[in-house]
Amino acid sequence: MDKVEHIGIAVRNLKDAGSLYERLLGCKSYKKEVVESEQVITEFFKVGETKIELLEASSDKSAIASFIEKRGEGIHHIAFAVDNIVAEMERLKNEGFNLLNETPKRGADNKLVCFVHPKSANGVLIELCQEIKS
Ligand code: ZN
Repeated sequence: MDKVEHIGIAVRNLKDAGSLYERLLGCKSYKKEVVESEQVITEFFKVGETKIELLEASSDKSAIASFIEKRGEGIHHIAFAVDNIVAEMERLKNEGFNLLNETPKRGADNKLVCFVHPKSANGVLIELCQEIKS
């Protein structure tokens, strides 16, 4: 894995959280994006090489809604940049990690993503992401 690409933070209200993080980080977000497949609305900030991804549920059935229900707002996942997501998924599978999807899927911010179950990573949801080259 290359680096921490972003940290995902579950929030109840993107408008409030977005302006709070603008004040906290001293910069404006560079992107807002609806991810239909995950039923979330995301907002991204750049901090050096790393990004902060705020996530608000767009429906009650969203994983973000149930996360907040159970654990409240807070850090939801850590995403690592990888060069070859398929190879990395294979490697982790062989290491005994429980992957949440069998094939990479399209995530926010022009990425192919795969998630590792928090139960196999000390309670932390891990995301692998690979930039989609156009
Ligand atoms: Zn993410």
